[in-house]
Amino acid sequence: MLLPIFEDIPLADLNTLRLPARAERYAEIHSPEQLIKLIERGDLATQRVFILGGGSNIVLKGDLNAFVLHMRIPGHMLATELDDAWIVRAGAGENWHEFVRWTLDQGWGGLENLSLIPGTVGAAPIQNIGAYGVELADRFFALEAVDLRSGRIISFDKDACQFAYRDSLFKQQGAAGRFVITAVSFRLPKDWQPVTSYADVASYLEQNGIDAPTPRDISDAVIAIRSRKLPDPAKLPNAGSFFKNPVVTQAQFDALVRDWPQLANNPQPDGTVKLSAGWLIERAGWKGRNLGPVGMYEKQALVLVNHGDGKGEDVLRLAAEVTAAVEGMFGVRLEQEPVLV
Ligand SMILES: Cc1cc2nc3c(=O)[nH]c(=O)nc-3n(C[C@H](O)[C@H](O)[C@H](O)COP(=O)(O)OP(=O)(O)OC[C@H]3O[C@@H](n4cnc5c(N)ncnc54)[C@H](O)[C@@H]3O)c2cc1C
Repeated sequence: MLLPIFEDIPLADLNTLRLPARAERYAEIHSPEQLIKLIERGDLATQRVFILGGGSNIVLKGDLNAFVLHMRIPGHMLATELDDAWIVRAGAGENWHEFVRWTLDQGWGGLENLSLIPGTVGAAPIQNIGAYGVELADRFFALEAVDLRSGRIISFDKDACQFAYRDSLFKQQGAAGRFVITAVSFRLPKDWQPVTSYADVASYLEQNGIDAPTPRDISDAVIAIRSRKLPDPAKLPNAGSFFKNPVVTQAQFDALVRDWPQLANNPQPDGTVKLSAGWLIERAGWKGRNLGPVGMYEKQALVLVNHGDGKGEDVLRLAAEVTAAVEGMFGVRLEQEPVLV
């Protein structure tokens, strides 16, 4: 079947910040074969390509002079059962949270701490999504991607993906935008152990009298905590955490903590110290403060929200103000988490 290609398509409903922008060309991709056909026909050769998932981690600056490929590849399955793990596989277009809940319905733990993260399975490896003590990399097995240069399907194992904190090969120059992820598989250990290191998760379990939590209990805890703390993009448009938590050296931390004894921090195994971007933004006076139609969320300073008709330029202006305020006060430079498009 011929793949329908559309022109001048509005993207406001396809990004969770609800930023207005139009795509010059647009197609929904339902299988790797459709994508390969587009490459073979030369449809992607003359124009910049932008790969769109759920639009929950992007900032659209304005109209996109690009061919937007909207990833809708469906399906999830048990790929293999090993002695010590289940290997599960899902299409890039699957909704991440629904996939997590499906694994829990089968009785397979491992992804529960990553419940309720918006977006698609295919985008999850891009920034190595993480929450409540677990990162995608901890459960990752392999992925398949179409190389837009060669039109070939390539498999990537964990090492090849170069996962790091909110980072992977797929964000690096040369690879970003080149590989279209079509399917991802995960290794869910049979010897499942709960991860309850986050205080919020531990206190939810305690308050609910749960001593020996199941994967589903942890998922329910994470859903309850996230629903309380984070704005629902359907009601208040946002892209989740707008800045990464900055990582500083021990010496930088020692100097900062002399002036700011309350400085929220998380020592890392490599000797560096991760600071809380939300804490820094709040102390710099930006929690609950607006700049035009956009602002930093009143309940969580790390989340940038669009109160109505904010545009990409409004978001960038606010991000620059917040970055300057934090740098002026602490000498720490914040780095934006969502991809600027
Ligand atoms: C309320 C809220 C809470 C959030 N909480 C968290 C959290 O706790 N932890 C966390 O890590 N993130 C969080 N996020 C960010 C976001 O949900 C994740 O980054 C998610 O993985 C993005 O998925 P997406 O499908 O929406 O990607 P998009 O926003 O559509 O795309 C993001 C990037 O991935 C690329 N991309 C998308 N699909 C593919 C593909 N198939 N192949 C290649 N490239 C692709 C895009 O080109 C773009 O560069 C949150 C966002 C919101 C709105």
